[in-house]
Amino acid sequence: MSQIVGIDLGTTNSLIAVWREDKAELIPNALGDFLTPSCVSIDADGAVLVGRPALERSSTHPDRTAASFKRYMGTDRKLHLADRFFRPEELSSLVLKSLKADAEAWLREPVTDAVIAVPAYFNDAQRRATRVAGELAGLKVLRLINEPTAAALAYSVHQREGERKFLIFDLGGGTFDVSVLDFFEGVMEVRASTGDNFLGGDDFTQALCELFCRKRGIVFAALSAGDSQRLWRQVEIAKRRLTQSDAGCVSVEMRIGDIEHAVELGSDEIQQHLEPLLNKLRKPVERALRDARIPLDTLDDVILVGGATRMPLVRKLVSRMFGRLPAGNLNPDEVVALGAAVQAGLVGRHSALDEMVMTDVAPYSLGIETAIQLGANDYVGGNFVPIIERNTVVPVSREQRILTIRDRQRYLVVKVFQGEARLTRDNIALGELKLEVPIKPAAEAGADIRFTYDVSGVLEVQATTFPDGVTKTIVIEENPGAMTAEEIARCIAALASLKIHPRDQTENRTVLARADRIYEELLGEPRRLLAVEIARFQSSLERQIVDEISRTRQELTGVLDHIEAQYTY
Ligand code: ADP
Ligand code: MG
Repeated sequence: MSQIVGIDLGTTNSLIAVWREDKAELIPNALGDFLTPSCVSIDADGAVLVGRPALERSSTHPDRTAASFKRYMGTDRKLHLADRFFRPEELSSLVLKSLKADAEAWLREPVTDAVIAVPAYFNDAQRRATRVAGELAGLKVLRLINEPTAAALAYSVHQREGERKFLIFDLGGGTFDVSVLDFFEGVMEVRASTGDNFLGGDDFTQALCELFCRKRGIVFAALSAGDSQRLWRQVEIAKRRLTQSDAGCVSVEMRIGDIEHAVELGSDEIQQHLEPLLNKLRKPVERALRDARIPLDTLDDVILVGGATRMPLVRKLVSRMFGRLPAGNLNPDEVVALGAAVQAGLVGRHSALDEMVMTDVAPYSLGIETAIQLGANDYVGGNFVPIIERNTVVPVSREQRILTIRDRQRYLVVKVFQGEARLTRDNIALGELKLEVPIKPAAEAGADIRFTYDVSGVLEVQATTFPDGVTKTIVIEENPGAMTAEEIARCIAALASLKIHPRDQTENRTVLARADRIYEELLGEPRRLLAVEIARFQSSLERQIVDEISRTRQELTGVLDHIEAQYTY
């Protein structure tokens, strides 16, 4: 039987792993890294680059490169790259395809089945889009798993005795997830799951960029695309330096136009400037604990997940909130992929995992819009009535009866929403359906609406009108941006026409992309010297002499490392 892979399809970085010989194993990409940046770029000859080589091109070829497209999953937004438009599903599928190729090269066999992790807070449309991305990449998505659930699985797989309650605090590049889980006698139950789809480490980098600009009297939003990307990269490096050292302050230097800007960022002003972002991390934690009905002091462990939890300010906040140090013997960037591989092992029924069972919860409430009756003929519309409430254990099926409110009413319009707000206008519309009901006096006709929510977070709505008993299963059609089967087929054909840059050339391509970026940022003598090194490497590439290629590549890499350590451009 072929292996089922587990995938962390991140906003910033993606990873692939597999369950083998009774443990989860990460699979390296063509560069030998476990982390593949979720970045796609189209080369001058139309070939698709994924991961590091693509990321290196984000400043030199911004109009041919896309990143962070996970943020647009489930919307109909299209991203323009080179001379064509891509849906977020398509870009995600290119990342998945690249991971699939890495796994096939490493396992030496075809990979067809996958478990993909998604943020717990992902809505129905976003989950469907993720499944489509898998399909476009030629992967059968056997299961979607919530990222925090995956993280908990990775932590529990080798300690299956006793009961443990823990909180997963996952701060990635673009998403924040908090989940409270209960693990008892091999059964993992997600007690509550909440978060923020638009909060992550990138927001911290962005805030630090703004702080840099403010101190120099520059408007960040007014910088050219190239300048803002260069500044972003410098600040990103500085942010990581803050993590490594305990100094608390960091300097950022950058030339914009003819001016060399050097800024010293002190720990107090950083703390103060990032305070609003840090405060936004509190609420989801409080809500998750409240929903789970688990008092903070009964938690056994707090587990940090996601690269941004490496920030000392975040760790300090977590320690302060929980009055203890977070657990963390696994790498926060890798936990989700490892857990997805455990889930893949469960799906594949590996004997070592026999005793583990998973239960999960609906991450948000799902319901319909109704009118509330105040008097004989007095109705107030626009109210949200939850049918499946947030944090109900899934799979779940619940029914709600709705009645006509006027005599001889012909139709019932059932609008489906997700969210927690009292009024539907403040929630997310998922779709709507129109039902024809038997003509009767008010309240003598109506429909039973059944919501069924499965373990992958996909919602099905069924309506049975009465008294005639006609049943309709509804495909939610007005799901914004959802692709039809026809569109998916067309997309697969279009993607097949795309050339994928050869995998065995990834290392050469990455070095060249990096060299091009640094070349553009240099001036004068260093620039001229770099051009010679690049030409030397390119000439050996053209002559295809393997030994010489690896030697000139090493030399060029050495030069690039030296320049990056020396210059702030
Ligand atoms: P995602 O799940 O969104 O793909 P990751 O878990 O890979 O994200 O985390 C990416 C985020 O982690 C980025 O915002 C990055 O800046 C941040 N990050 C990674 N390493 C560090 C570090 N050493 N210090 C601070 N932030 C870091
Ligand atoms: Mg992540």
